[in-house]
Amino acid sequence: MTFEQIKDNFEKIRYEILTEEKKSGRTENSVSLCAVSKFHPVQSVYDAMKSKQFLFGENRVQEAYEKFTQIQNDSTISKKPDLHIIGTLQKNKVKKAVEISSCIESVDREDLLVAIEKTCVELNKKINILFEFHTGEESKSGFLSYDSIKESVESCAKGIFPHIVPCGLMTMAPFTDNEILIHKSFESLRKTKDSLQKEFPNLMLNELSMGMSNDYKIAIEEGSTIVRIGTALFGQREAPLKN
Ligand SMILES: *Cc1c(COP(=O)(O)O)cnc(C)c1O
Repeated sequence: MTFEQIKDNFEKIRYEILTEEKKSGRTENSVSLCAVSKFHPVQSVYDAMKSKQFLFGENRVQEAYEKFTQIQNDSTISKKPDLHIIGTLQKNKVKKAVEISSCIESVDREDLLVAIEKTCVELNKKINILFEFHTGEESKSGFLSYDSIKESVESCAKGIFPHIVPCGLMTMAPFTDNEILIHKSFESLRKTKDSLQKEFPNLMLNELSMGMSNDYKIAIEEGSTIVRIGTALFGQREAPLKN
């Protein structure tokens, strides 16, 4: 995609988000746009930054590391981008993930928290996280039950992981045209977050990361605070860059 196309896409999606916020009675600018640049070249990230976009999402750590260290080390850039890791994370990738990102949205098991904390101690860094919750039939990632997510949220609430700042929940809706199912998936994430917030009032679980190119409007209606959009901004993805 050319710079002009990417710029137009950002303008269009920002306008759509604003329109949906108003339609749903949400506060203006209460939804952040996370631009998912996975499988797209580093040039697309530069083009997005020229379109005033500074929050990005990547789901493969190695690819993200290569692209985003290049940008971080680019002295001609005045405002640095902010990166969220949104894909299932293997333990051997935790170090690089913590190094390059400000938030890991895809925390889906307790031993990942242990590994993230250990790395944060080594790097002397605090990191935001979201708990990924499984709300759709087809996706395989995320905590599968309320009890399992609650256990990990509780560990954080008890202060076991002092370098980890839990900020909320993330999910992927099922891949379907059935809007009722998509609503249900997002509604269930919102309700799960509300319950966890009630159980652990010392945490600040403000974020609901939900909504992608095909379903972000429904997500905003259901209370999303972060939409993760790739295809509608950068076009179709090529085959994955080698990991
Ligand atoms: C790829 C991806 C997205 C973006 O999907 P699009 O349909 O291209 O907008 C969002 N979230 C996660 C977790 C992803 O892996």
